[in-house]
Amino acid sequence: MSPLPTAHVPLPDLAFSEDGAPYSREFGDIYFSRAGGAAETEHVFLRGNDLPMRWQGRPHFTISELGFGTGLNFLVTYREFLRRCEPSQHLHFISVERYPLTPEMLAQAHAAWLPAEDAPLLKSLLDHYPLRLPGWHQLKLPRCTLTLGFGDADTLLTTLDAQVDAWFLDGFSPAKNPGMWEESVLAQVARLSAADASFATFTAAGAVNRALQAHGFDVQKTAGFGHKRDMLIGKRANKTPTPPSTPSSIFVIGAGIAGATIAHALAERGAAVTVLERTCIASGASGNPAAVLYPQLTKFYTPATAWHFTGYDFMLRQIARWKALGLNFTHQQPGMLRLPRPDQSAEGFASLQLDASIMRYVTRTQAAEIAGMDVASDGWFLPHGSWISPPELCHALLQHTNITLREQTGVQSIARDGNQWRVTLDSGEMLAAEQLIVANAGDAPRLLADYPMPMGISAGQVSIIPAPVPPLHCIISHRGYVIPAGEQWLMGATYDRSDYSGAVTDANHAENLVHARAALPGLALNETSIIGRTSLRATTPDRLPYVGELAPGLHVSIGHGSRGMISAPLAAEILAAQLFHEPIPLARNLLAAIHPRRRTKAK
Ligand SMILES: Cc1cc2nc3c(=O)[nH]c(=O)nc-3n(C[C@H](O)[C@H](O)[C@H](O)COP(=O)(O)OP(=O)(O)OC[C@H]3O[C@@H](n4cnc5c(N)ncnc54)[C@H](O)[C@@H]3O)c2cc1C
Repeated sequence: MSPLPTAHVPLPDLAFSEDGAPYSREFGDIYFSRAGGAAETEHVFLRGNDLPMRWQGRPHFTISELGFGTGLNFLVTYREFLRRCEPSQHLHFISVERYPLTPEMLAQAHAAWLPAEDAPLLKSLLDHYPLRLPGWHQLKLPRCTLTLGFGDADTLLTTLDAQVDAWFLDGFSPAKNPGMWEESVLAQVARLSAADASFATFTAAGAVNRALQAHGFDVQKTAGFGHKRDMLIGKRANKTPTPPSTPSSIFVIGAGIAGATIAHALAERGAAVTVLERTCIASGASGNPAAVLYPQLTKFYTPATAWHFTGYDFMLRQIARWKALGLNFTHQQPGMLRLPRPDQSAEGFASLQLDASIMRYVTRTQAAEIAGMDVASDGWFLPHGSWISPPELCHALLQHTNITLREQTGVQSIARDGNQWRVTLDSGEMLAAEQLIVANAGDAPRLLADYPMPMGISAGQVSIIPAPVPPLHCIISHRGYVIPAGEQWLMGATYDRSDYSGAVTDANHAENLVHARAALPGLALNETSIIGRTSLRATTPDRLPYVGELAPGLHVSIGHGSRGMISAPLAAEILAAQLFHEPIPLARNLLAAIHPRRRTKAK
């Protein structure tokens, strides 16, 4: 029986020699050559793949590496790419690592060796470094996207969707780390290679040479670096394929978080995007003044848990990036205390084996210290737990110069018309779109009646009160949540599948208050000036959204349920990567799990 899935990511057995060079005790091998790690990268991997020459004239170039290690190959390549390429060119760098270093280890590994001029690149990597979660992580750096996989190369590569132009076959030597050089790994290298892909590796091992030849590479021995006599380089003999075309005009239906994030992701890639919105920006569920970024906790690392944690991690990095780009919206990261619900035990989530930097068990006393007030029980603390203002974020995202926003523009129906999608507006006006993205939540099943997907609607109300004294220092998640949002507390949220009138009710306020009081005993709340907001969630039976291409030119990002703030931004990046033929930032099994054509049982 295979073990139950967990989120465990093993640490490397890292040690340092007297001169400060990092090496792995487990593999008995060094991370990089003491004769000059950066010079070795340039000799073996850049020149071995005929780089930077092959970058010339390529708007996108994809490199994939086996063995991220200290990230030295990446840093050297990124530096050379920035130096030698035009600002309009973009580097995709994919790398896998079974024993990822922590950010602290990375900093230490480079302390004695990295040239001062490369220090800003290391800082950029550390600033964007992902949480310690298994699977793929996408780091969006200036002019470069780093897709970093934490896990076994053998397994991870089978889940990758990319067209690689050049391979850096690194990792510890075949004698010391045979797993990295197995036939199954090299078969994946072949599967993922573009028609004219090249590779370079420091090893000259005969078995590697034969395996790569068997997979269609023309292999050559050439002079190695330093004391190494030989190394291998090779190319696939095929002609450079013509790059696939990318869309120039795209329509998005809906201006909530799903529509705004996808519109922005496409606009950033240079597409002209028109957003059609029935009322105004963030008028649906994305209109609550504050919303929590919180992954779903389950006993085991199921596909739904993996999706939500990957989305959480991605959204945290996107927020930092959007802020750096000058987008103006409220984001606070006070951390989140997750208290068990009545049917859960506080210890229950230990089986997830999440790294302590992501989530740690706290006793009731410790939890009270973090919260600044008494709490009901032991629980889990997530230091990255945050809240945002979704309407502010949607407004900021839609301000891009490549986006045309049409508010008060409802879509009545859509239909295929030759190579295009005909969009009929409520006003009767007709538009034609080459690519259409449906992101209108609960109204999607009506527009997509020809493509039935089980979806439900659940109404919810949030309650807002003036912040009481003493102040709450973190977000509380229990049967609902409490967000200390400056002068106010926002408490949420109710679930109601019966008729929806849109009215804020006292009964729903009472429910939110009961849950808040149960989590924070002894709480004195001023209910006299309570206000609220109601809206609808679009839900799916398996709590995973529908994301992907439904029919040629028709894409969806819907069904984000109760987790739209961490689910929609990752969905946006996946759709944009698919439309622009970039490496996909999610494992293929998870892509299949969120695909709109997957089998889901109607509830
Ligand atoms: C009470 C409540 C509290 C919540 N709290 C949280 C939270 O703390 N954290 C979290 O992550 N998630 C939370 N959620 C869930 C989250 O709000 C949703 O998952 C998310 O907002 C969905 O975004 P969306 O863009 O898919 O849909 P919406 O925000 O609903 O946007 C859909 C948009 O499409 C437009 N539209 C609809 N039909 C058409 C049409 N035919 N033509 C043109 N436009 C159309 C609508 O006007 C609307 O603006 C909460 C939800 C509710 C209801």
